[in-house]
Amino acid sequence: MTQYISVIGYPLKHSLSPYFQQAALDYYQLDMRYEAWETETQNLPSAIEQLRQPQNMGANVTVPYKEAVLHFMDDVDDMAKLVGAVNTIAHKDSKLAGFNTDVHGFLQALRKDAEFEIKGKRVVILGAGGAARAVSFALIQERVSSLTIINRTMTRSEDLVDSLTRHIAGNRIETKVAALSWQNSMLREIVQSCHLIVNCTTLGMKHSTQEEHSPLTADFIPKGALVYDLVYNPLETPLLRLAKQAGAGILGGLPMLVYQGAASFEIWTGREAPLGVMLTAAEQALLGSRR
Ligand code: NAP
Repeated sequence: MTQYISVIGYPLKHSLSPYFQQAALDYYQLDMRYEAWETETQNLPSAIEQLRQPQNMGANVTVPYKEAVLHFMDDVDDMAKLVGAVNTIAHKDSKLAGFNTDVHGFLQALRKDAEFEIKGKRVVILGAGGAARAVSFALIQERVSSLTIINRTMTRSEDLVDSLTRHIAGNRIETKVAALSWQNSMLREIVQSCHLIVNCTTLGMKHSTQEEHSPLTADFIPKGALVYDLVYNPLETPLLRLAKQAGAGILGGLPMLVYQGAASFEIWTGREAPLGVMLTAAEQALLGSRR
């Protein structure tokens, strides 16, 4: 019997996961299909229920449902609980288990592709949505010295800082966390003195109305810093282009996307993810005529 894995989100037209996940399944010649289940909000409960059918092995979950699916799970792993978001579901023995592999993907790219030493660094995070939550918890777990979260909607960044502060207090972590508005007079000084800037906003994303936008201008970006843009399409975003001009190091979102997907693949199949195959398939899908 052919088995199925899906990605659940809305919209899904530009998702790369079906390309690189199918390439990994084909690499092992598994009788499995990876499908895009574009799901409108009112159909989310039935899509999750469908995962309980015997032919379905699990799913990835993407925007905007990573937080919403948490409540449908029978089990949730510690990282997904901490972050408050599930991006991977495994179906076994009629039960659905939720995982968060975004944290792993984010850290693996930072270490492996940028060779960045995380501990003790001053970090600025742009955005306070689902991705920023995963990134923030990943970075405090790795003991950065400070984390400044800059977001358009202050209540959202303040909520995130509250969750982080509670976790820090209960776990003997010494990271200083703060929420800052884009208008704050300290913004320039704080950004210019940090070691790592992570863009977790959607600014610069292809096929969006903000395609040409960068969250920062070049004069804000410190020369010695690393600028990590989670946006993976295009490969070189407006922010990364400006960071290069400013003399900073750059890291795009594609390695993270592939690493989080590779961790999901290993959860579903129990096999080592063929990283090279997955990365090539993702790059080809991104650069090819299909995107
Ligand atoms: P989300 O929950 O919708 O959050 C979007 C964030 O962008 C919010 O902080 C939002 O601010 C901000 N934003 C949107 N438009 C803005 C504007 N015009 N000006 C200033 N800020 C704006 O999305 P998400 O899930 O966190 O994803 C964020 C990005 O990360 C997406 O581009 C996604 O593709 C990428 N991502 C990449 C990976 C990867 O593996 N590489 C994984 C996860 C996510 P407000 O709160 O004010 O609305």
